[in-house]
Amino acid sequence: MLMSSEEYRESLRQYKPTVYLGGRRVESVADEPAFAPGINALGVTYDYALKTEFAPLMLATQHSSGKQINRMLHINTSSGDLLNKLEAVRLLCQETGCAQRYLAHDAFNAIYQATHRIDAAKGTAHSQNFLNYLHDAQERDLSVGIALTDAKGDRSKRPHQQANPDTYVHIVERSAKGVVISGTKAIVTGAPYMHEFLVMPCRNMTEQDAAFAICCAVPCDAAGLTIVARPAGRPGEKSALFSNKFGQSTGVLMFDKVFVPWERVFYADEWEHSGYMTHSYATHHRHSCIGARAGFGDLLIGAGALMCEANGFDPGKETHLRDQMVELIKITEGFYACGVAASVYATLDADSNSWMPDPVFSNIGKLLLATQIYDMQRIAHYVSGGLIVTLPGPDEDHNPQPPRTWPTYCAPIPMCLMTNVYRPRASWKT
Ligand SMILES: Cc1cc2nc3c(=O)[nH]c(=O)nc-3n(C[C@H](O)[C@H](O)[C@H](O)COP(=O)(O)OP(=O)(O)OC[C@H]3O[C@@H](n4cnc5c(N)ncnc54)[C@H](O)[C@@H]3O)c2cc1C
Repeated sequence: MLMSSEEYRESLRQYKPTVYLGGRRVESVADEPAFAPGINALGVTYDYALKTEFAPLMLATQHSSGKQINRMLHINTSSGDLLNKLEAVRLLCQETGCAQRYLAHDAFNAIYQATHRIDAAKGTAHSQNFLNYLHDAQERDLSVGIALTDAKGDRSKRPHQQANPDTYVHIVERSAKGVVISGTKAIVTGAPYMHEFLVMPCRNMTEQDAAFAICCAVPCDAAGLTIVARPAGRPGEKSALFSNKFGQSTGVLMFDKVFVPWERVFYADEWEHSGYMTHSYATHHRHSCIGARAGFGDLLIGAGALMCEANGFDPGKETHLRDQMVELIKITEGFYACGVAASVYATLDADSNSWMPDPVFSNIGKLLLATQIYDMQRIAHYVSGGLIVTLPGPDEDHNPQPPRTWPTYCAPIPMCLMTNVYRPRASWKT
């Protein structure tokens, strides 16, 4: 059942995770002001799925259940699905800066592929286990955090060579009922306000690393799991009009003998398939990142155009500003085009019968955005001037005794950062 943003916020109250922030225990994630911008951002992924005009992008039909679900939890069954996901992520990130929930899509698709591949190679039943979990997560419209990146300790050593084995999450006990895992995942987007986590290996493994090859689902309030998080965005900062509304928390997850029943274990000890899993996840994720950063680019384009106007220029007429704005659009649409190409040249994964974006175009798009993001910020700064980092906060707008020379154009400037320009293209037939 699809949730609204309000229902999502309320649903967080059903869980009792152990969360620390700034050295103190957080009693209620849903009521913690420091997480509000993150919960708001995730909320947009729920509310947009309920809007009729966005339904073709934000909703999808899961082929294995026939149910209509949020696209952020969908398994791709065509090239059109990948194009729609790309557009949906761009739309969400244009509003929020980063909507965070698309990582679940990327992990779902990777685990779907990897479990089918292991079944084909070894005759196991991992894919059915995962399918049951997938249907349940889709039905409950969950937000699922991705716990892939291990703390890693000494990077020159493999997991089994680490002096402290807890630098990687690993299996410490196996029984007829399930496994017990310990270790640390270091960078988990949205960690404090997720319902569940998918634990996945972050690298290729050798046979000696078998205990570290574990992929499973863990609820956020599992016994033995501690989340240490950063604030989401810049909560409570009045002058940060955008970042106090939408932001991203990241968290460290510490697993201390956490029990996971077999029905939530999607593979264990199958070290030889970890390389494939991380390759598949990275390919889906880089494809999604292209849509996300294009949405962020749209925010900068809109803000840049408004800053030109606030400074008294028409960027269409003032050549040096027009050139910079064209450059900003060229960068954004340039890496986005790689995402489109990766979708168009997607391939069918024969084991799982699902669709995978083209890895070369996905990686080129990711490389372009990851290097050009610095140019995007530089251009936004260039067309704006120094006011954007030096202006006093919006409280001054309401000061009953402003200095006589307070410039009238100061008031609308922070609002530039709330402006969007991009509108999604038509959805693609799947
Ligand atoms: C904003 C943000 C959000 C993220 N969200 C998530 C998330 O939700 N879930 C998740 O699982 N991960 C997440 N990540 C983690 C991301 O995938 C990792 O940052 C990335 O995989 C790199 O790992 P690392 O940061 O540990 O750096 P490292 O891999 O440790 O790299 C550090 C440096 O060491 C070098 N190095 C490392 N290993 C070797 C080696 N063996 N040989 C030679 N050189 C080496 C690297 O080249 C680099 O220069 C996020 C990251 C960021 C920045």
